Amino acid sequence: MITLALSKGRIFEETMPLLAAAGIEVTEDPDKSRKLILPTTRPDVRVVLVRASDVPTYVQYGGADLGVTGLDVLLEHGNQGLYQPLDLKIAACRLSVAVRAEYDYANAVKQGARLKVATKYVNLAREFFARKGVHVDLIKLYGSMELAPLTGLADAIVDLVSTGNTLKANQLVEVERIMDISARLVVNQAALKLKREPIRRIVDAFASAVPQT
Ligand code: AMP
Repeated sequence: MITLALSKGRIFEETMPLLAAAGIEVTEDPDKSRKLILPTTRPDVRVVLVRASDVPTYVQYGGADLGVTGLDVLLEHGNQGLYQPLDLKIAACRLSVAVRAEYDYANAVKQGARLKVATKYVNLAREFFARKGVHVDLIKLYGSMELAPLTGLADAIVDLVSTGNTLKANQLVEVERIMDISARLVVNQAALKLKREPIRRIVDAFASAVPQT
């Protein structure tokens, strides 16, 4: 049995065409079913639905053989024990710093001010500001990061930006782009040895179906 870990939403939807290229179709709609293990048209392949931030953990410890996860999640988790063969070029966005439109970020950085930064990505944010030589107090949040500068909880946020509409709707502006993000295929290293052939076939089919840029 090959187990693939996916999260619901964009990753699930954008992985379906790649699975189809490998001759695999998920036979139940995750939005209509309450099942967490979904069968596919291949009796030896199943999909498990997990929280996006749990995908690397499932694959690392062998709860799943393969998984699809954002580079943001992967880097924040640390990629120990995970083989990362492919950039799937799906769920593309960027990790950025944003502030209230009237906050003079460039000047605060120039003055060497200590910034309060709210984010879900404390490890990535810590590394980024350390590289820049900016002192920060990091505030860990689990969602609605955009609210932090609006309520005075933080001076800045580090969050994913795709269209920029969420920032705009909350009068926030993007002041630095930390890195481009897309979803990656990750494979459990032991599974890669023990189930080499079926995993290799899936990885190769995904590779040939990745959208070309
Ligand atoms: P947008 O308004 O299109 O810039 O999207 C920003 C919102 O969607 C933020 O709340 C982000 O955390 C979230 N977001 C954008 N792209 C992604 C992605 N690829 N994966 C997960 N969340 C995302």
